[in-house]
Amino acid sequence: MECDIVIIGAGPAGLAFASSLAKTGLSITLIDRQPLDAIAEPVYDGREIALTHHSQNILHDLGAWAYLPHDDIAPLQEARVLNGNSPFALSFDTGQTGAEALGCLVSNCHIRKALFRCIEGREKITLLAGQAIRSISHSQKHVAAELADGSYVTGKLLVGADSRFSWVRDQLGIAAEINRLGRGMLVARMQHEKPHGKIATEWFDHYQTVAMLPLRNNYSSAVVTLPIGEAEALMRLSEKQFSTEITQRYRHHLGNMELDGTRHLYPLATTWSHHFVSDRAALIGDAAVGMHPVTAHGFNLGLSGQRLLAEEVSSALRKGQDIGGARVLRAYEQAHRRAAASLYRGTNMLVRLFTDEAPPSRVMRHVALRVAQKMPLVRSSIRSMLMAR
Ligand SMILES: Cc1cc2nc3c(=O)[nH]c(=O)nc-3n(C[C@H](O)[C@H](O)[C@H](O)COP(=O)(O)OP(=O)(O)OC[C@H]3O[C@@H](n4cnc5c(N)ncnc54)[C@H](O)[C@@H]3O)c2cc1C
Repeated sequence: MECDIVIIGAGPAGLAFASSLAKTGLSITLIDRQPLDAIAEPVYDGREIALTHHSQNILHDLGAWAYLPHDDIAPLQEARVLNGNSPFALSFDTGQTGAEALGCLVSNCHIRKALFRCIEGREKITLLAGQAIRSISHSQKHVAAELADGSYVTGKLLVGADSRFSWVRDQLGIAAEINRLGRGMLVARMQHEKPHGKIATEWFDHYQTVAMLPLRNNYSSAVVTLPIGEAEALMRLSEKQFSTEITQRYRHHLGNMELDGTRHLYPLATTWSHHFVSDRAALIGDAAVGMHPVTAHGFNLGLSGQRLLAEEVSSALRKGQDIGGARVLRAYEQAHRRAAASLYRGTNMLVRLFTDEAPPSRVMRHVALRVAQKMPLVRSSIRSMLMAR
């Protein structure tokens, strides 16, 4: 099969990239190992994605926003960072920006479904679901993915959107920094007695991090980060024990809490690809940068990255240039690395500072929060990072 662009991975990044190019007339083939129904009707996976304003705009442009269930979009008015037993909270709100909210929370399964609907039925976009890939090869003008049945899909550009432990990245011979953190992030939707006031809290307690993300009505997404063994033990508790455990770990701030639905555990690893491109190929989404979820930037970054690449491809097409050529790839790599590097390093630094239990780090984070609260410039730059238009 021949096409212009081959995308491996039909997760949110791959689907967004395909729909960004849907109007260009380029023929696109998406390949994913998951069966079609898992891509078309993704089930709830516990992730509530905090979307920046910039991401909301991109989803609007793609047409995906209209497919989201609007009753399930939860506005985020304020974010608070708490440290250990200290009553002090560093807080961010919309300030003088005039915006109604810092951002909003949407379930990952709704985002994936909405992005799928954007490509569904498009004449020039083909989705090969439930397909394993055997190898990738390229010549001067083409790149080819060999499927498990021995057939080939060839294109002028191949895009790896196959997540942080990217098989495509390995096949392309691109090295990556991979940090397995030995910790797990457990996510679960909880119903609670007291209102959350649309305030998200990130509480770096001793030996655990607990975030509460405000959903609609008296529901929050509890995000608990622990050493992996402890997180697995929480997964094994009965629903009743689990509800009591989360209520206690959150020190009854929202009254009694009750588990609503399923729990999900994600072992934590961060990844940084040493290159985002190679001959006729590019990495997008988590395959390029696997962020720690604590600052809620993984999908946001992936969404803006795929847009950068789509703009370079569209511009080359308009000028009659090679859409998989070195100029396109270099421009994408430079722009995306510039945007991603400080977010990735900054997030990792924050995680180290706020999870290290050594006394100097405890003192340091206490000081860091106090200083940040007193410096309007620091707070407004963190606010603009949160709100990123
Ligand atoms: C608990 C949690 C909370 C998060 N919260 C936020 C948040 O608030 N804000 C935010 O911006 N981000 C958040 N993220 C990050 C966000 O979920 C990811 O950045 C995003 O899902 C990455 O999308 P992706 O398409 O790159 O990868 P994925 O979603 O992992 O999709 C990859 C796709 O590739 C396919 N695939 C993999 N390997 C192959 C192969 N060899 N062949 C064919 N197909 C393959 C898979 O089947 C899958 O469909 C969170 C993550 C977690 C774990």
